[in-house]
Amino acid sequence: MIKDIGIHMKGGVITERDTEYCTIRTRIPAGVVSCGQLRGIADIAERYGAESVHLTTRQTIEIPHMDPGNLDAIARDLAANATPVGSERDEIVNVIACPGSERCIFANIDSIALAQAIDARLFGKEMPVKIRISVSACPNACTSPVLNEIGIIGQIRPIRVPGLCTGCGTCVEFCKEDAISIKGGNSVLDHARCVECGTCVRSCPYHLLKSSGEHYLIMVGGRRGRHPKAGRELITVTSPDVVIDVVEKIVTWVYRRAWSGRLLSDQLDELQFGKFRDEIRALVPEEMVVPENSGGISDGSER
Ligand code: SF4
Ligand code: SF4
Ligand code: SF4
Repeated sequence: MIKDIGIHMKGGVITERDTEYCTIRTRIPAGVVSCGQLRGIADIAERYGAESVHLTTRQTIEIPHMDPGNLDAIARDLAANATPVGSERDEIVNVIACPGSERCIFANIDSIALAQAIDARLFGKEMPVKIRISVSACPNACTSPVLNEIGIIGQIRPIRVPGLCTGCGTCVEFCKEDAISIKGGNSVLDHARCVECGTCVRSCPYHLLKSSGEHYLIMVGGRRGRHPKAGRELITVTSPDVVIDVVEKIVTWVYRRAWSGRLLSDQLDELQFGKFRDEIRALVPEEMVVPENSGGISDGSER
């Protein structure tokens, strides 16, 4: 017997095949859970009869086979554990992130802090369509941001200190995109091939390649599932605070204009994505926007 319709109607409560039971999905921004919280979830799961939990693709923990009659108490216990009931329906669902600058040698940004800040601003907001948000700290894109409704990738552009390149070719070897060659004894970048991963910056033994500064590529309208689709590039900005503001503007735009019952990726054109992109670019201060395809390994004369 379902006692609390309000809690049961939340997206974090999922009716199972055997409709006598439900699965409870927790809210774990960026997939970071303390050891104490982990023990707390295990205790709660055991207390209400689960023998195991399930780790989801959205970096949350689900507790399966819960009696809907215990929903109130389980929700209370999970909230006390700071891992409350999450979301799964047409809402902003758990924001995911790769390990980022805290641990990964490839990271250009603090993806976990950014995902947690976005979660704090927007988690659980009811929407006409489901909004999945993913942050990856480099173009290796381990959390598949390009396949989420909103995806963010941390990038940096290489700039060579003027006039000092030895032509040793180390950066050429490290670049997986074949985007660098040696011409006239200097490294030269092919802008069209560069994905702005920053690997060459870290590879130069003479520290002659500098970062143009971390920046954040924001994409909209990707999806996984039956017919995966890559998101479209919206804007590249220079600070996490601007990312959060832009993500909020995307959410407001979708909330006001999108239709229910269809994935966001299927209605981007009807929502006039191109016009929205122009509006966003006009709204963000020019000095916070990274121009397309500029920079690269040069003698810095472009900057
Ligand atoms: S996306 Fe990049 S920074 Fe993040 S875990 Fe993968 S390789 Fe590391
Ligand atoms: S930043 Fe560009 S040039 Fe440097 S390693 Fe990455 S893809 Fe190659
Ligand atoms: S930029 Fe550095 S690594 Fe690349 S060729 Fe010049 S000295 Fe070597």
